[in-house]
Amino acid sequence: MKKRLFGTRGIRGPVHVKVSPELAFKLGLALAELTGGGEVVVGRDTRVTGEMLFSAFSAGLMAGGSDVLDVGIVPSPCLAFATKKLGASAGTMITASHNPPTDNGLTFYTENGSEFTGEREVELERLVLDVQPKMVEWMNVGSVYKIDITEEYITDIEKKVKVDGGVKVVVDPANGAASGITPVLLRRLGCEVVTINSHPDGHFPGRPAEPQPWNLGELMAVVKKVGADLGIAHDGDADRLAVIDENGDFIKHDTLIAFFAQKIVRERGGGIVITSVNTSKSIEEVVQRMGGKVIRVPLGAFTEGLIEHQACFAGEPGKLVFLEHGMWADGIFSAAKVVELISKERKPISRIFKESVPDYSMYHEDFHCRDEMKPYFMEHMKRHVLKEIGDIEKIIDIDGARIERKNGSWVLVRVSGTEPKARVVIEGRSLEELEDLKNKIVEEARRFLDARMR
Ligand code: MG
Repeated sequence: MKKRLFGTRGIRGPVHVKVSPELAFKLGLALAELTGGGEVVVGRDTRVTGEMLFSAFSAGLMAGGSDVLDVGIVPSPCLAFATKKLGASAGTMITASHNPPTDNGLTFYTENGSEFTGEREVELERLVLDVQPKMVEWMNVGSVYKIDITEEYITDIEKKVKVDGGVKVVVDPANGAASGITPVLLRRLGCEVVTINSHPDGHFPGRPAEPQPWNLGELMAVVKKVGADLGIAHDGDADRLAVIDENGDFIKHDTLIAFFAQKIVRERGGGIVITSVNTSKSIEEVVQRMGGKVIRVPLGAFTEGLIEHQACFAGEPGKLVFLEHGMWADGIFSAAKVVELISKERKPISRIFKESVPDYSMYHEDFHCRDEMKPYFMEHMKRHVLKEIGDIEKIIDIDGARIERKNGSWVLVRVSGTEPKARVVIEGRSLEELEDLKNKIVEEARRFLDARMR
């Protein structure tokens, strides 16, 4: 099942170069064909090119006989919610997630709000590239209906989450699609809310949209300055969240996954948790302790994992899927769950996590790697890691190669499905072990790529 247009999930890239209005039109026409002319909910994030792509994509849908339910600028999880709630045949989010403002893209959702699986994406691709569906006759062309769904979305979460008050939170939505939503929701839940970067602006003037520690310096400083209990950050479309503790420190994405996985498995007395190949071994440890099991899937494939294994929770770095809410990663619902947790536990957030999730040292580095170099890089590095690290327990090679040692430490070498990047991730049991593995592996990755990039 080789993808030609789609990346890890959805289509994403520079506008006009990869994601053009012509392509958006063809995708619209193809999706109308795939859904048999069913209704399609379409939303977009705050990107400057969103309206153009919305127009082209909607024209394709209408030309194929589908009606467009236009929910306007909304977070991806709100689009997923709307698709399910409105009983549409499919949903499409026009977003490039955390990519730079020059990029845009499209991500597709099924009628229950889950992302298209790889299989579905390939079907859609085939319609665009091989079949080129016909346009319907003039009297069967679709229309656009504008729908405001955000109020319903906020109310829905409000009903599912209970906060006892007394929580002070700083929210940084990166000027993205959650700008008018997360602060409103948390305020209604009874929190005292301070905002930064919280007006919608597709130039992302406040900070890069990826909610990683190196982009969240301002949020960390404000949390400390105003004496907040926590900080919440999103990416541009708010399927992701990052959490800052009361000291202004970044809480590792994997710690959040481990914490909620453990909590849900404990409450259910077992169950399967889905996570990606690049997350901490601590997740297995806490889930197994509660009688559950962890299954690892390729990055971006948590939907397939949830369906195949009838799992009770899924998480990949920055994305949490709470099935009590829906089949989609929801940074806004997750924010509400974190706030609920603090209000229940009545202790500092840093302590809540420290007491329940082991903290191992991790290192990751991205390298520039041209697409044609990717197979050579993978082959070379896999061989190198196997030779260097020793004491091997198992190899997971569903997405790159994750090589685990018997003591629980591991190395992952993988290449990006959406960008010209390669990545090495290492988790050691101790700082010394991490340093040792870093010296053996990261240097070699750099040397190999440097020699071939000149
Ligand atoms: Mg995103």
